[in-house]
Amino acid sequence: MTDTPVTVVTGAGFGGLALAIRLQAGGQQTLLLEARDKPGGRAYVYEDEGFVFDAGPTVITDPTAIEELFTLSGKRMADYVELLPVTPFYRLCWEDGSRFDYANDQVALEQQIHRFNPADVAGYRRFLDYSRAVFEEGYLKLGTVPFLSFKDMLRAGPALAKLQAWRSVYSMVSKFIQDERLRQAFSFHALLVGGNPFAASSIYTLIHALEREWGVWFPKGGTGALVQAMVRLFKDLGGQLELNAKVSEIETCDGRVSGVRLVDGRQIPAVALASNADVVNTYKDLLAGHPRGRRHGRTLEGKRASNSLFVLYFGLNRLEPGQAHHTVCFGARYQALIQEIFHGKQLADDFSLYLHAPCVTDPSLAPPGCSAHYVLAPVPHLGNAPLDWQVEGPRLRERIFDYLEARYLPGLRSHLVTSRMFTPEDFRDELGAHLGSAFSLEPLLRQSAWFRPHNRDAEIPNLYLVGAGTHPGAGVPGVIGSAKATARLMLEDLRS
Ligand SMILES: Cc1cc2nc3c(=O)[nH]c(=O)nc-3n(C[C@H](O)[C@H](O)[C@H](O)COP(=O)(O)OP(=O)(O)OC[C@H]3O[C@@H](n4cnc5c(N)ncnc54)[C@H](O)[C@@H]3O)c2cc1C
Repeated sequence: MTDTPVTVVTGAGFGGLALAIRLQAGGQQTLLLEARDKPGGRAYVYEDEGFVFDAGPTVITDPTAIEELFTLSGKRMADYVELLPVTPFYRLCWEDGSRFDYANDQVALEQQIHRFNPADVAGYRRFLDYSRAVFEEGYLKLGTVPFLSFKDMLRAGPALAKLQAWRSVYSMVSKFIQDERLRQAFSFHALLVGGNPFAASSIYTLIHALEREWGVWFPKGGTGALVQAMVRLFKDLGGQLELNAKVSEIETCDGRVSGVRLVDGRQIPAVALASNADVVNTYKDLLAGHPRGRRHGRTLEGKRASNSLFVLYFGLNRLEPGQAHHTVCFGARYQALIQEIFHGKQLADDFSLYLHAPCVTDPSLAPPGCSAHYVLAPVPHLGNAPLDWQVEGPRLRERIFDYLEARYLPGLRSHLVTSRMFTPEDFRDELGAHLGSAFSLEPLLRQSAWFRPHNRDAEIPNLYLVGAGTHPGAGVPGVIGSAKATARLMLEDLRS
């Protein structure tokens, strides 16, 4: 490591990696510091008994945003990673036995909608038009633009008002669609970015249009292969990644960041610093030595954190023919369950699950004849429900296995080779996530765009943020978009 000041990015999640690539490609010598032993952040990889488990993101959308990182670097994405199409995008299942294969095929979609409720076919077409209009405005125009001043917000105001952004995702979907299962099918997407469909702005309906526009993909070799591709790209450009390098303090001098101190005591000078670490802890802990850190840390602690997740990875010594790559298993309750997940003080008695079966697309993720899986349940964060997950985790694991055996994977336990859990306490302890939130600050309208922590700090001019806690927010396309917004600011500032 050099004593010459460089541009430093702390945290090698998708946001940190994408930013580091853009900075390095822009001619800034960049050092990427990652606390853990592997890059990826929420996209960490576990390998147990020959099974490969992607820890987090599995639904890869907007491949154009990923490809742009390679092309702007003068490289070809195909030389680094292959993205495989996923069909159907998701299989949605309800306890009454109904099933909806959500794919990018208008005719097949309309036939299925017709089976649920004929009147909803026309409603769905109108919803798709609406979703496309929001996608145009909220993603294509505003998704990678930093909101640094309230004027930026005012400029976006008329468009947001026209799109009725104050309404919730569920309320907007319900305007077009009557069948309750279809309302769930077209509103659950908010949960993918930590949003409550009954509270998140209808702007998040853009996820539907985004999936219809560019499809749903899965990297060959798993999401971890995409992380590795980005690391390789960064290194090929001359960037430096250091693992097991946890930042304990952001150091300042004369109102500017002067460097970082690591937990092992090393000091690294920096001309500019971007934090991909949890946004609340960036201010509250890493900047605790500066009045801005203490003040803003308290402000951010007062914001609403998104929910947490309970994730259960498991390998089976059998294949699961007929399964879809992504299955959403809706429980008996929707609105009431979601309210308990976002506001409850304890675990609900029931759950809705997302079941990941990557071997459907890429059998290499498990030994021959075997299949890798994970199942996740949204659960309250530790601020709402300060549960002892050493006790609750094993109990919830057994309840989820019972449910999967009864409805989706008969005989699961007798074919189990390996399993591991990731609980809200792990989000807190392993990833440094405030309150163990899985998606950082909740994507409410009042915590979005200018109201979200800005890509550049308002008081410390060479301190920047990237990742789920800044604009535009969580999700792989979101954090890669945040890197574009932040990189533009940093490169402009560093060149001036
Ligand atoms: C289980 C799960 C499933 C998901 N599924 C999807 C999906 O299918 N599709 C999708 O688009 N999104 C999905 N998401 C959301 C998406 O994964 C995240 O929003 C996104 O990956 C977050 O990226 P990030 O850049 O904010 O960084 P993170 O992934 O949060 O990484 C931050 C990094 O910073 C490091 N760090 C923290 N503190 C320090 C420090 N002090 N010093 C050095 N390093 C530090 C951490 O170790 C970590 O590696 C999912 C999330 C989870 C948890």
